[in-house]
Parts: sequence; structure tokens; C-alpha cells
Amino acid sequence: MKIAFDFDGTITAHPQRMNLLAQMLQLAGTHVVVLTAAAGELPADQRPAEVAKRLLRYGFTCPHELACVEGHAKGEWCKANQVDVIIDDDAGYLERIRRDSPQTLRLKVEKMKPREPYGLAGLVHSPTVSQPRRFHERCIAPLPVHQDQSYRLIEEPEHQQ
Ligand SMILES: [Mg+2]
Repeated sequence: MKIAFDFDGTITAHPQRMNLLAQMLQLAGTHVVVLTAAAGELPADQRPAEVAKRLLRYGFTCPHELACVEGHAKGEWCKANQVDVIIDDDAGYLERIRRDSPQTLRLKVEKMKPREPYGLAGLVHSPTVSQPRRFHERCIAPLPVHQDQSYRLIEEPEHQQ
């Protein structure tokens, strides 16, 4: 199973939930890819390093693979790399993915009102999941842009859309 996460508008809009989802999928043996057109303002060879930095800012430290492509090329990439599921917020890109990689299940991220952040404490103490504490620490640590590194602030991009 291979699942691709978009970055802008997907991970950036719902960092906590996307991180948790990716983490759980990885624990279940899923190959997690970040498939993004982010950092398109940079030369192609500089994008992965820049996107990796941006991912860290959102605490998304766990992908197995990072693929920087033009947005319109996401479908071709999904087909060539046999992506089973893609999570993306861009309806136009998803339509192209439908056309270019019809075997890929497309899950669209909708803009939504912010909600109370997930109770990570419950996961940290879950007897069935052993890694979330480390994830929890990683999730908090790479967010120096916020003086108060609370989960509410991590979710702040949702307020601004
Ligand atoms: Mg996007």
C-alpha cells in the first residue's frame, strides 16, 4: 500500500491530523510519500531540500519518500509509482490524477472550521501504539515559528484560510 500526501493546503492546513494519520499508516506498514509542487519558485534540484525544511516546520518527519513534481504531473507520478491513495486539496490536480492515474483513490481535503485539536495524550498512553510519544515530541519540537508551541497554534493555518 502506498499513500501520497500533498503538502500545501493538506499537511499545512491540518498538520496535526495529517501527521497522526501518516504515523498510524506507517505503523501499519504503508509506504508514505509526500507528493508536492511546493517550492516551485526554486530550481527543481533545490526543491526537495526546501520542502524537507518546510515539512519539519509542520512536524511532518516521517515520510518514506519525498517527490517534488509540478502539480499537473502528479497523476503521471501516481501512475508510474503505483500510488494507491492520494490526499490533496486541489480539485484541478485531483481531476488530472483521475484522468492520468485512474487506479489511484483520490481523497480531497476540504477547508473546514478549526476544531479542538486531537488529544494526543490518549495516543501517547495507548497500550497498542508504542511510537506516538516520540512522534509527539517531534511534532512539537520543529515549530520554532510559534512562541507558544501549543497545538492550537499548530492548527492556526486553518483559521487563516
Ligand atoms: Mg495542495
